[in-house]
Order: sequence, then structure tokens, then C-alpha cells
Amino acid sequence: MATTTSSPRIAIIGAGPSGLVLHLTLVKRGVPSTLYEREASPNARIHLGGTLDLRWAYGQRALYENGLEAAFKAVSRPEGDETRICGKDGRVLLELIGDRDIINPEDISPEVDRRALRQIILDAVPADSVKWGHALTSVTPHGDGTHTLSFANGHTAVVDVLVGADGGTSRIRPLVSPAQRYYAGITGAELVIPPDVVDRADMADARALVGAGTTYAMEGGNVLIGQRNSDGRVRTYAWFHGPEDWPLPADPSEARAVLLEKFEGWAPVLRKLIEHGADDAIYHRPLYMLEPGLRWEHVDGVTIIGDAAHVMTPFAGMGANVSMLDGLEMGLAIAEAVNAGASKEEREAAIKKAEEKLFEEGAKWTAVTATNMKGAIGPDAPQCMVELYKLMKGIP
Ligand SMILES: Cc1cc2nc3c(=O)[nH]c(=O)nc-3n(C[C@H](O)[C@H](O)[C@H](O)COP(=O)(O)OP(=O)(O)OC[C@H]3O[C@@H](n4cnc5c(N)ncnc54)[C@H](O)[C@@H]3O)c2cc1C
Repeated sequence: MATTTSSPRIAIIGAGPSGLVLHLTLVKRGVPSTLYEREASPNARIHLGGTLDLRWAYGQRALYENGLEAAFKAVSRPEGDETRICGKDGRVLLELIGDRDIINPEDISPEVDRRALRQIILDAVPADSVKWGHALTSVTPHGDGTHTLSFANGHTAVVDVLVGADGGTSRIRPLVSPAQRYYAGITGAELVIPPDVVDRADMADARALVGAGTTYAMEGGNVLIGQRNSDGRVRTYAWFHGPEDWPLPADPSEARAVLLEKFEGWAPVLRKLIEHGADDAIYHRPLYMLEPGLRWEHVDGVTIIGDAAHVMTPFAGMGANVSMLDGLEMGLAIAEAVNAGASKEEREAAIKKAEEKLFEEGAKWTAVTATNMKGAIGPDAPQCMVELYKLMKGIP
């Protein structure tokens, strides 16, 4: 690792994909930073979150430029890139199997579980540089680019560079922009089918439909996604139009019944993805977004990356990918400036330049996602999504 003589005090808020990559990128280049996370430990909420398919020029690049190629290969599943698209009758209209249909390895996006992704990054940074159980409650700007951070546990810190990687409800975003995330008009739930249930004989058809990857079923304004995770479980997302306050019953049987009503008339193989969701793993999942193309005037000493800057619905599978690229680009910019002994003004100019790249990527992918979302829940689904998917993957 390189060493540095004059390091600014850098704080990153949030140990999601964007904050972790930023922290990693700085640490690997000898620039100390502190990563604050409100979760009590790396294992808190370990059960939450499905898998992410990391694209070559985005999530994969963010790891490889930090020396984590082998670590990523050890925990990711190229076969998880297997994709199927169907309508509510469960008939497969598009099927992509990595080693059969995708010639260029750079077009394969291996799947990685969120917790495994977090762990390989945590293993590569000093343990004491990540402060768990630190929920940021307020920030006081001092007018000279420095900020005082206050946390729910009573800790305070004064910093020269503050990066909000704290997701869609960011507490840092108001320091640079008045924009707020808004409800995308789609609500629903996430369910988890445990591996032993997935393996049962009566689940053979559902197992085959989901395969090693993800199956997207959509029609009539509803979307049902079945996604294989690394331990064999299947994670289901069931989405439909509804008001933001659509209530998911707390009782699991009632919740499944209400969801099944929404998917009335769908093929039995697809309904199984809801019917077999475990009692202790049914979560409400309304979808939110920020207006595509958010930009802001640079503010000294503070910036935001990842979902804090461009929360998008998951219809392009790019949110974490773009967030990781943000972390990499911002980290490279800050590290280069710090290691060159840059003045405060030069460092701020470097951050501003990295923000410009972030605006471009954020605008591009929030727009693609918005188009995909309209397609998936619109009257031309599933056929239009087959076409869109082919376009996205460069398939003739
Ligand atoms: C259902 C669903 C499926 C998705 N699937 C995909 C996919 O397949 N591929 C993909 O690329 N993207 C996907 N996404 C998008 C992806 O999850 C996000 O874009 C990504 O997690 C954003 O990373 P982030 O680090 O910016 O924010 P987050 O992952 O939201 O992380 C923010 C972190 O900040 C912490 N935090 C928040 N507030 C505070 C505070 N006050 N103090 C301290 N810590 C705080 C949080 O605890 C959290 O750990 C999906 C999203 C959803 C909703």
C-alpha cells in the first residue's frame, strides 16, 4: 500500500455496495478513511437481500481494480446469470444460459449474494476502520468545508470530506440537493423459499423454471421474479400497481393469500413461488426512485454516491452496479488528489470531476430503468421486455 503524508479526515456514511467500494479503494491506495454503518454488525439483517449480478464494467471492475478478482470468483456464480422471461402462463419466451448463449465472457454477469459481497470487501480493509452501530443522526456544516457528524450512540466526529453512501433515504443528500425519492407506483413483497422446500419433488417444475439464475414473469401490470440464491433458496419478488400504503398483512398465511389473489389466473408453477414462501421471511417491498438525471452544484467537503444520488427501481438490475462504480471513481479521484499532496481546492476539484461522471452514469441508468419498468408493468409485457432484454444484452 502507498503511504501518504497529509491525509484529510474522510468519513463515509453507509456500508452498502457504494460505501464499501469507496472505502476499499481509498484504503488500498493508502488513504485512511472511516466507514460508519448504522447496522450493529456485519451479520445484522444477514437474511435480507437477494443476489446481485455484477457487470463487467461496473461491479466487477470496482472489485478487480482493488485486487479482489480471486475473492469475487470464489464467492460468485457465473451460472447464476441464467435468465428466463415468460408471461403469466409460465411459457418461456426468452432463455439465456451463460456458457451456451453468451460468447463473450465480459457479457457474463456472475451473481453474488449481498452478504458475500460485503464480506470479501470487509476482509480487505482494516477491521477498526469500519464503525458498526453508528447511525448518523445529524450533520453540522461549519462553512469552511468541514462538518461535524453526530451519531445516535453519542459519538461525534469533525471531518474534511464527508461522503453520503447512505442509500435512498440519505441524510447527506439534503446538504447538496433538495431532491427526494418518491414512490414509483409499484408495491408488493419479497418472499424466501428455503432450500429444503425448493428441493422437494413437488417443486420440480418451479426449480426447472428458475434454474440456476432468475426468471422474470410479467403480464397485465404484475411482475413475479424467482431468483436462485447461492445456498439453493429461491427468492421471490411479487410486484403490482398499488398505493404506497398498500398493507401487507403481518400474518404470513394472510400475506400469501393476499398476494396470491393479486396473481389470480397465473400458472400454478408461478403461483408456487408465492405459495411456498417461508412464514418468517415475507417482506413488504414498495419501490422508490429519484427523478432520473439528478445533478447538483458541488458543495465543498461533501458529496453523495450510490442510491443516495440515483435510487432507481430494480428493473435494469443496475443500482448496485452503478453504485459500486461511483465508489470506485470517487475513491480513485480522492486518492489521486491526496497522494499527490493536493491542496483543499485541488481535492474539491477532483471530487467535483468525479461527480460529473456519476451524474452521467446515474442519468443513463435511471432512464433505462424507468423505461424497463414501464415495459414490465405496461400492456405490451412480456414481449416488449424480451425485445428490451435482447437489446440490453446485445442479442440479435
Ligand atoms: C428488491 C431490489 C432488488 C435489487 N436488485 C438489484 C440487482 O439485481 N442488481 C443491482 O445492481 N441492483 C439491485 N438493486 C439495487 C441495489 O440494491 C441498490 O442500488 C444498492 O444497494 C445501492 O447501494 P448503496 O450502497 O448506494 O446503498 P444501500 O445498499 O442502500 O446501503 C446504504 C447503507 O447505508 C446505511 N445507512 C443508511 N442510513 C444510515 C445512517 N443514518 N447512518 C449510518 N448508516 C446508514 C444502511 O444501513 C446501508 O447499509 C435492487 C434493489 C431492490 C430494492
